[in-house]
This record gives sequence, structure tokens and C-alpha cells, in this order.
Amino acid sequence: MTTFDELRALDRQSIVGTYARLPAWFVRGEGARLWDADGAEYLDFLTGISVSSVGHCHPKVVEAIREQAGQLIHTSNLFYTEPMIRLADRLRRSSLGGRVFFTNSGAEAVEAALKLARRAKTGGEIVVVHGGFHGRTYGALSATPQESKQAPFAPLVPGFIAIPPTVEALNRAVSDRTAAVLLEPVQGESGVHPIPLEVLRAAREACDVHGAALIFDEIQTGLARTGSMWAWHQLGVEPDAMTTAKALGGGLPIGALITGPGFEEVLQPGDHGSTFAGGPVPCAAAHAVLDIVEDPALHTRVKELGERLREGLKDLPHVTTVRQRGLMVGFDVEDVAAPELVTRLLTEQKLVANATGPATVRLLPPLIIGEAEIDSALERIAAALS
Ligand SMILES: *Cc1c(COP(=O)(O)O)cnc(C)c1O
Repeated sequence: MTTFDELRALDRQSIVGTYARLPAWFVRGEGARLWDADGAEYLDFLTGISVSSVGHCHPKVVEAIREQAGQLIHTSNLFYTEPMIRLADRLRRSSLGGRVFFTNSGAEAVEAALKLARRAKTGGEIVVVHGGFHGRTYGALSATPQESKQAPFAPLVPGFIAIPPTVEALNRAVSDRTAAVLLEPVQGESGVHPIPLEVLRAAREACDVHGAALIFDEIQTGLARTGSMWAWHQLGVEPDAMTTAKALGGGLPIGALITGPGFEEVLQPGDHGSTFAGGPVPCAAAHAVLDIVEDPALHTRVKELGERLREGLKDLPHVTTVRQRGLMVGFDVEDVAAPELVTRLLTEQKLVANATGPATVRLLPPLIIGEAEIDSALERIAAALS
């Protein structure tokens, strides 16, 4: 039997040290619960960063993966496969009505979106927002205006302009040279910061005036996380293209760029590609996920449960601010460090959460939880804060 100490030593020796892992070794998951190697049970309010939105090992997802894996795992995009093509059709119908390009991750979906924008307007600039996060590959990183993430890897891809999320900054930055405005309707990695509605509206208008693409990164906000299939469904601002990933494959790696009709013919044969993307197994899993997250009754539940969580959090000691859209929740704390709080929650309270900064905790529970689990999480957070 491997001990936790042995596993940690092996990790240090074998894995490139880009992650400061939290002290837990998970071996099993079911619904909103995880179990560690000692058999201790945890309540998961992070879901692998908004990935396991339908809960761990949802029976329908497991069944879809099993069945497809026993039939056909891979052929590449040189051939037709039905799970991928039908999934694209569902995604376009649920959103912008154009076409879909599949990827294996969120960052890759963003790369596809950037290539789409530049292909539509050669040499065009990409306007992005301070605090935004779009991934770690070079294009996505160049779209992620955070000094600590970008500086060590200069020079970045040229042509990105970063602005604060204000109408004035936006109107100053967008011109006829602009190929795209790229933003998350609710910034996730920064600690759940919704972009003000007037900024989204101004972005829509500026893009229309200057012939630029408005692109929403819905990798974290999409698939019912904020209480609607896509976050923009609640905002009344429709983008020209959007990205999805994280929850789409129920834990398997899959992402997508979805275009509106205006951009569906921009990318041409040979312009982009991926060996793995759109494989039958992740697509089969995604069909099972969509069956669950497309349900309007779930959207209503997500909104109600999110409000219950917000109401419970806002009166806790040390909590200064709560930001919430559906079951995407961030809260700021004072007189206690968020990373320390998160470690205490994990090790003492057996609640999985994460710190997005020194004073910010983020909660991304599975969308299938109930009131009892929300209340249990609140009790654990209260205990860890007291
Ligand atoms: C997680 C995330 C990404 C990057 O996705 P990866 O799968 O980690 O490459 C991009 N944009 C947003 C908004 C995200 O939350």
C-alpha cells in the first residue's frame, strides 16, 4: 500500500512543479461527494474547477463513456463520426446558431476564437479586460492581462489591448483596427467578478460599429453554471462567437468554439485542426451532460440554491463581500488569509473549495446539489471561520 507521504515524494520527484497542491488524495467520487485514500468523505464545492457540474461519476455520463469506449474511441477528424456532429448541432442550437469547432481544452477553444477573429480581420487587435483569464497557451495567455502570469513568458503574441471594465475604456480601445473584444461575462479565475451590463452592451455596440467580433469566453460560466444554459442568455447581449469547455465533457477533456451565422464560414479548410478534438468518447459524455444541464428546471434550481448560498455567506464573520451568479460564488474575507481558510476547510471541515487570491474564496458546487448540502457547506465555512 502506497502511503500519502510516498505519493507526495513521488509527485515532487516526477511532476513539473507548476501546482501547489492542496493536501488531499482523492480516490473516488459520487455526486457532490469525494473520498480520500483513508476513506474520509468530503463535500465538493469546487468540482475540479466547475468541471464535474453534474456531479462526480453521474450514472448517465459513466454509461455513455462505457458504451462508446467499447465501440469506437478514435478515428481523427479525417472521417465522419456521429457523436461529434450531433453534439455540434446541439451546441449551435442551444446558443448562436452558427457552427462549432471542437478542441480538447478551454485554452484551445480560446486559441480557435483568436484565430477566427484574426482570420476575419487580418492583423486586427484583440481587446481584453483586466482580471480576465483565458488560459495558459500563448494566445490565451496573451489574452490574460495578469503580470504574474505573462511577464515570465515574454514576448507574448502581439496585438492585444487590455482595458479596465468600463464603458469609457472600451469605447476608447475599440476602433476599425479591432478584430475582437474577448471577455468572460462573469470573470471566474479572478474570484467571480461579473462584467457590468453597461460594459457588455457598449462592447456589443462598439463591435457592431467597427466590424469587430464580440467573443464571450463561457468556459466557466456556461452549461447552466450561472442559472441559464449560457450566461449571456440572462444578459440580453448576444456575442458573435463563444467558447465552452470545463463542464462539457463531464470530466473528460473537450472544449468548443461556437460561432454565430456571421462567422461560420471564416475558418476554411486547412486553417485549423486538432488530432484528438471531437473524439467519440468525450462527445458521448458531453451528450449525457447536455441532457442534464439543458433542463430549465435545473436552471431555476441553480438560481435558488445560489441565492441560498449567498444569503448564508453574507452574514458570516470575516466575510466582507459575496459575489454570486447562480452557483458561481466568490466571497472576500478579512483578518484571515483565504488560502489558509481553504486548507482548514479541506483538512478540518472536509469541504473542498479554492482560493483565487489572498482574500478571496470561490465556490463552484455541482449543479445537482440540494438545500441540505448548501446548509452543510455553510456550517462548515462558519466553523472554519470561528
Ligand atoms: C479554465 C478557463 C480557461 C482555460 O481552460 P483550460 O481547459 O484550463 O485550458 C479559459 N477561460 C476561462 C474563462 C476559464 O475559466
